[in-house]
Order: sequence, then C-alpha cells, then structure tokens
Amino acid sequence: MVRVRFAPSPTGMVHVGNARTALYNWLFARRMGGKFLLRIEDTDLERSEARYETQLLEDLKWLGLDWDEGPQSTLEAKTGSEGPSAPYRQSERLEIYAAHTARLLEEGKAYRCFCTPEELEAERALAVKEHRPQVYGGRCRRLGRTEIEANLAAGKPFAVRLEIGPDALRFRDMVRGPVEFAAETVSDPILVRSASGVSAGVPVYNYVVTVDDALMGITHVIRGDDHLSNTPKQVAIYQAFGWKVPVFAHLSTILGEDRERLSKRHGATSIASFQEMGYLPEALANYLALLGWGAEDGKTETFTLTELAKIFTLERVTPSPAVFSFDKLNWLNRHYLKQAAPERVAELSWGYFAEKLGAREAAGAELVAWFQRLLTLLVPAVDHLSQLPTKAGLLFTHDPEAARAVPENVEALGVESARLVLCEFADRVRAHSGAVTPEDFKGWMNEVKVATGVKGKELFHPVRIALTGGHSGPEFDKLIPLMEEGAALGLGIAGVRERILGFVGA
Ligand code: GLU
Repeated sequence: MVRVRFAPSPTGMVHVGNARTALYNWLFARRMGGKFLLRIEDTDLERSEARYETQLLEDLKWLGLDWDEGPQSTLEAKTGSEGPSAPYRQSERLEIYAAHTARLLEEGKAYRCFCTPEELEAERALAVKEHRPQVYGGRCRRLGRTEIEANLAAGKPFAVRLEIGPDALRFRDMVRGPVEFAAETVSDPILVRSASGVSAGVPVYNYVVTVDDALMGITHVIRGDDHLSNTPKQVAIYQAFGWKVPVFAHLSTILGEDRERLSKRHGATSIASFQEMGYLPEALANYLALLGWGAEDGKTETFTLTELAKIFTLERVTPSPAVFSFDKLNWLNRHYLKQAAPERVAELSWGYFAEKLGAREAAGAELVAWFQRLLTLLVPAVDHLSQLPTKAGLLFTHDPEAARAVPENVEALGVESARLVLCEFADRVRAHSGAVTPEDFKGWMNEVKVATGVKGKELFHPVRIALTGGHSGPEFDKLIPLMEEGAALGLGIAGVRERILGFVGA
C-alpha cells in the first residue's frame, strides 16, 4: 500500500513550496488509496517552535488536507492513537535513532570520527588549494580498535559517519527518471554530529529522515528538489541497514515571475498570509496543484480537491521549474469567490470591517443582510477579500474636498455643465424628505437632464463623483439603497442627501 508523508520542520511559516509538497503527497495518497502521514521534524531544538507547529496544522486543515497518521490525525481523532508508527515527532524518537546508530557501529557500517573541526577545516582548505572536491578523506575509517578505545577513554568528542562503498548511488525518481550519483561525490556523510565533550551527539537530518521513512513504511518520498543532493546519502543509509529504497519524486523549485527563486521579495509566500489576504482555500489549493502539474487535456485549470484526487498522477508532474503567477491565482480566486455562498463570503469578509460594523456575533439580522448585499456589489471587483475595505471606501468615506482634488475628477467637474447639473440635482434633494429611493434618483436625473440639456457622462459623472468620490463604480440602483440603509443603520455612513448637499456646499 502506498504510504507517503509530509515532514515539515516547525521552524517558520509554511510557504507555498512546502504547501505544494503537502498537497502533492495528499493527492497521491488519495488517488492511490494509500495513507498520508504527517511527521514533525523538530530535531533542531533551537529553531523549532510550538507556535509554528500549531500554525502548520492549521494551514493544512485550512487548505482542506487531512492526514491519516500523525499529530491531530484522523486516526487520532477516532482512536486516540496518532498511529502505528508513533511517535511522529522526531524530538520524541531520539532513542530510536540512538539504537540504530549503535547497530550501524556494531555492524561496521558506520564509524566514529574523532577529527576536530580544525583538522576538517585544514583538509577542506587543502582540497580547495589543490582544486580537489571538498570531501572527507576518511582518516578515521582506518582507526584501529585500541586507538578508538583510547580516544573514547580520553573523552574525545566524535561524530558518527557512514562508510560509503565504491558503487554509484542510484534511485528512481518519478519526476526525473533514474538518478545516479557517483560515490565520491557523497564521501562518508555524518549521521550523528559530535556534541562538545559528551558522546550523545545530535543525529542529522539525512539520517533521521531515512530511519523514520523506513520505519514508517514510506513507499514514495515526494518533496522539494532542494533535497535532491541529500537523496544519495539517504539511499546509502537505506542500503547500510538493508532496507528497501523507496521511490522518490523531487518537485521542481517554484520561481517568481522574474525567474528568481520565489521569496518574500515577490510578495506573500506563507499560507497564513494568503489566508489573511482573503484568498479562498480552494483557490489556493487549486493553484498550488497547477504549480508543476497539469491535467491530461492540457487545458482544464479549475479543479476541486475531490476532482484532483481522482486524476492526479506523479507522471504528469513536470521537472521544469514552476513560475508563481499572482495573476493566475487571482483569476482562480475570483472564480471561486463567484461560486461561494454569499453567507460564507460575508463571514470571511466581516473581519476586514470589524472596526466599522462591530463584532460579528453582536450584529443584528438587518446589518448582516445589508453587509451581504454590499458584498454582492463589491466582491466581483476584487481579487481577494482584503481589497474590500478600499472598494467600500465609496460608502464608508464621504470627503468632498478629497473627491474634488482627484485629477480625473477635477477634469469632470471643471466644466460649466457639471456645476449646473449638481446645482439642479441639489435643489431636488433639498426639496425631498425621507429616504431617497432609486426611483427618486432616476426621476431627478431625468428632470436635471431636461432642465440643463446635459446628458450622458457629462450628466452622470458629476453626480457620481458627488455621491461616491469617483466617476465609475457600481450601478446607482444598487448603490442608493445601500447608502440610505447604511446611513439608517448608524454605521457612520452618509446618506444621499448628506453627500450631495455636502459636496455642493463644499
Ligand atoms: N524537514 C524537511 C524539510 O522541511 C523534510 C524534507 C523531506 O521531506 O525529506 O525540508
């Protein structure tokens, strides 16, 4: 049975690269009817933080990915046990690694290396000078038993190294095909780093990841290609233990549009920041799936996770780098926003307006309904929900002076007809009492047209600027009731009367 894992280190926020790795693992497991495990790689105690672990679990859940084994897995929810390979946190598996190190030492597959950092540095420097590859020469490989015992008795710190044989290290990569590394390029890798003075050293990533993958029965290792050069070392470790080498799939790097490795410089990269910006999880998940994979028909681009889980194959994952396009993500987000239930969009958007609307829990039905209608008007104009407050500025702000100062408005207002139109319009507003309806508005516009002889955009732009501060925007039919009701709801929103009279008087 297929068993795959996502093995993040809780040393920072989950970014798009990691999330895509998690997604591809999840999709592959679901497609193959296998298991998806979550393993927390927290051996770097200095950099690992509980809050990052909490966040990464949240991120996965938010994206819609569930995991069968590991902390907070579906299995744990059902049975209380994280799974048959527990524990799934590397910091809780140190004894397992130590036992395996002892086994390798005993079997002569690994050896203690007493070389000091200074000696290793000197060796490296010499290699550089002589233009040789900077690999460990293997001095401690040849230490005799008595020498080793003497060093141990003297309390000399040591690292544990794996002895690499002469054969090339080969593995199968489902994205890249067969891969081979010459043994010399690997040299004898350190498995356990020496600790200062004491013998209990720290097992390194390549070692613990291999022990865990083997003991957890991982059949396919799907991860970023930044790990490609680690893989031959891991293959050598599998071989030393006599374990079956899994199949690998190294996913290409994600680049920014400038073809540089995607980084914060390009904008948001952490999953949490996309959530904060008001991207829908289904849009981001869909987009991540397309970063290196494409449907067989070569054109369909919108997929739910359920659909993807039926058609995803590693064979269709490309080895060439994927370019992250915010435009494409925005396009998908708009697609999913259009499909999302208005209640859900309102829930997700409320936070951006909390200062103006108060707490969601305290809001009355009328306010909620009003907000939902506002969103129906504004959401089609945004890429992601955090852009809403700016778009809603046309309702929440009423600043005649600022509106008059906008260069495009200056032009539209500068003509004599604009003054006339606004004057006539204001007269009608003044003479009216009670809320303004779209019918009132339409009637007045007709009257103003007749009275001034002005029509088209010369007629509409000045009125729109007076009402909203801009000369384009949503239909008046929808806008006017929102303004009037918003004003009545006591949200600090100006009504039509206040806006027009304020503008003309200003
Ligand atoms: N903890 C490693 C990382 O986050 C896992 C790499 C792997 O999947 O082997 O990069």
